[in-house]
Amino acid sequence: MESTKNLTRTETAQRTATVSDVAYRLEIDVSSAADPSVSTFGSTTTITFSATPGASTFLDFLHGGVDSVTLNGAELPVDEVVGEHRITLPHLAEENTVVVAGHGLYSRSGEGLHRFVDPADSNTYLYTQYEPADARRVFANFEQPDLKATYDVSVTAPATWHVASNGASQRMDHHGNGTATWHFARTPRLSTYITALLAGPYHYVTDEWTGTTADGGTLTIELGASCRASLADDFDADRIFDVTKAGLDLFHRLFAYPYPWGKYDQAFVPEYNLGAMENPGLVTFTESYVFTSRATAAQHEGRANTLLHEMAHMWFGDLVTMAWWDDLWLKESFADYMGTLAVERATDLGQPWVTFANRRKAWAYVQDQLPTTHPIVADIPDVDAAKQNFDGITYAKGASVLKQLAAFVGEDAFFTAARAYFERHAFGNTTLADFLAVLSEASGRDMGAWAEAWLKTAGVPVLGVDLDTDEDGTVRSAHLVQEATDPVTGEPVLRPHVVRVGTFEVIDGRLQRTGSHEVELTGARAPLEPLVGQPRPAVVLPNDEDLTYAKVRFDEESLAVLLERLTELTEPLAQATAWAALWNMVRDAALPAERFSRAVAGMVGQIAEVGVVQLVLEQAETALNRYAPPSARPAALEALSDTVLGQLRDAEAGSDHQVAYARAVARLGRSEHVSAAVDSTVDGLLAGTTSFAGLDVDEQLRWALVQARAARGRADQAEIDAALGSAPSAVATVGHALASAARPEPEVKGRAFRAVMAGRDHESNVLSNDALSATAAGFQLGSHELLDGFSAEYWGALEDLWARLSIGLATRTVQGLFPAAQDITAEGVDANPALQAARAWLAGHETAPAALRRVVLEQTDTLERTLRAQSAAL
Ligand SMILES: [Zn+2]
Repeated sequence: MESTKNLTRTETAQRTATVSDVAYRLEIDVSSAADPSVSTFGSTTTITFSATPGASTFLDFLHGGVDSVTLNGAELPVDEVVGEHRITLPHLAEENTVVVAGHGLYSRSGEGLHRFVDPADSNTYLYTQYEPADARRVFANFEQPDLKATYDVSVTAPATWHVASNGASQRMDHHGNGTATWHFARTPRLSTYITALLAGPYHYVTDEWTGTTADGGTLTIELGASCRASLADDFDADRIFDVTKAGLDLFHRLFAYPYPWGKYDQAFVPEYNLGAMENPGLVTFTESYVFTSRATAAQHEGRANTLLHEMAHMWFGDLVTMAWWDDLWLKESFADYMGTLAVERATDLGQPWVTFANRRKAWAYVQDQLPTTHPIVADIPDVDAAKQNFDGITYAKGASVLKQLAAFVGEDAFFTAARAYFERHAFGNTTLADFLAVLSEASGRDMGAWAEAWLKTAGVPVLGVDLDTDEDGTVRSAHLVQEATDPVTGEPVLRPHVVRVGTFEVIDGRLQRTGSHEVELTGARAPLEPLVGQPRPAVVLPNDEDLTYAKVRFDEESLAVLLERLTELTEPLAQATAWAALWNMVRDAALPAERFSRAVAGMVGQIAEVGVVQLVLEQAETALNRYAPPSARPAALEALSDTVLGQLRDAEAGSDHQVAYARAVARLGRSEHVSAAVDSTVDGLLAGTTSFAGLDVDEQLRWALVQARAARGRADQAEIDAALGSAPSAVATVGHALASAARPEPEVKGRAFRAVMAGRDHESNVLSNDALSATAAGFQLGSHELLDGFSAEYWGALEDLWARLSIGLATRTVQGLFPAAQDITAEGVDANPALQAARAWLAGHETAPAALRRVVLEQTDTLERTLRAQSAAL
């Protein structure tokens, strides 16, 4: 029987044609949540809606039992209408009321209503996460974004808890037995996937924001922030509120539409599957943003970016919502762009556009070169495909393209369009056409061709500069050139770009910008007149200031200079563009990993921005462990280690750089080949016999050091267990799981492999999402010789795994155990046994679920890319 867990665009479109004017009343009972033997919670849903008389439809409900279904006063036979995931509603009237009384299952996968028991104090915490289609794990509903409805929510829970939902708490009824029922304000119209619940003994801090609306009025918003009680001492709610208020000021100015959701709570929750979720009035975040160890400036910037990304969603996504997941970009690309823009304009944290160029765009370039890439406006036939589209295209490429759009039409036109969009579609649903309509009106340009080229094609454009010079070095002709093929269609695609081309010379020992020329490139080539007749610049940088989305190809002279002097570039965004280009070259086997690592080692000491230091050190380590051939690895890793140790010794006491270098030592310390000096520094820091003035070996660093010793076979299980010490915490639990799976012994790897495959630890406890990923990450630390033996069992189990697990856990498992660490041999890329096995599985499983095939295709392509890079450097 085909699983009905999936839900298709066709089915939901039929439901939209049948059903309208939906309103929900939810009664959720989590009063027994603290009892671990109770696996379900009470869920009673009353839905009123209009329908085509005589038609039938269905509700979605991934339940733990349904007691009764009552439609328009008549009880329906449960065994006939209730399936595993759906409830049939036959013979609808014009106006209908359906009541579903049943139970939901507490989740350990982060999907639905997640239950977490705090190792620090045994307190129980609950929160929900629904996108794209997991509200149905908590209550019966029409699970699709375009059937917006109002929600009247009540929750029964232990009376001492903090309980929250999208609407403000209006009343609390005590029952005298230690429980109480909270009643929340009825919400405005919103989609199922952004409804939310939070319950537990959360630490809750309040504040308020008062600002001015576009019509000159005053608006006050109650602010709240929560985290687990055991994290309260580390919870810097003041800084969170500072960013929140600055964001509310900015977005009210830019969007000119008053915040529509009443109060604004931000909850930091455990074992969270993603960075955050934009539930209106109750945003949820990963609690890794509650900094229990030292946080660098880059971490504060990253948190602010996420805070402001989610806040932008209160308008882009929550107020105006895509009709279906094909247009997911209408919220994610915008929120990603606005988050970065808001950090830049509303805070003094870091250099957000540098981070964007370095990290967000790197994610997009990776994703856009996978065989599974897709246009920004995607074809999403069902909710499984939707779940997989929260990817580098939808977020980072989309945001990059919006940055280019703002350069193309001008920022004023961009925001004029946004304001018209909110005004026109508030509390409604939209598609690409609706956005293009306001954009064309605001810019006075027909945006059809632009949208076609950028939003409906796939693949990364490549920008380069063609220079022709005389013998004396004078430029005879210069052109900016682009090349791109859409990997989906195989057709060439030339996109319109407004970019800047920078020229740089060495002046006073520094590489300084001597010119920055705006160029509008619409075809394959555009002349660079200002360069002609001038001496050839030391460096020519296409996409200076990172205005467009493209891989940059350097001419040989510029590349040679940049590999020595990149960090002398006086403009941070020029540096970021150049680093990104070098990294793309490593991945494309156009620059040997060793050469890249040498460039990083040679220049990292000059990098002022700690986020860039962290990034290039991570890239250099990945380059050597993945993209360098095995023969080159030991010497190159030793050389990189020496540099990092040297920088750690020289770093300013107590600085972010010192923290970044210490963490890099711990990370390098896991590698198969590191110098004795790294091992002894790891040991010394842990034992307290080595110290650096101002450096605190906090919980995060301590676990990284323990993991390094474990991965190198220098810590036994007793040492790892002892590190748990007397201060259990969520961080320690995960750190311990990773270290326990990291030891390079066949039995250890076997135990870890079996635990991840079964989703249970050796004591048969269900592994949470976080525990599963940590165990898999530990497993992966090891030579391929140690891990290859598990491959046959892995390939044989994939389909069963996929059918048995939620898509979230299944994806973690398939990715987490994929045989990714491989070494090239003289026989070449295609002879690699792991690659052969992956290809054979794909060829033999053409009809496997599309979502599973997508994960395997991506992993296989990534493996092939690493082997190609290793091969090129042999
Ligand atoms: Zn988002």
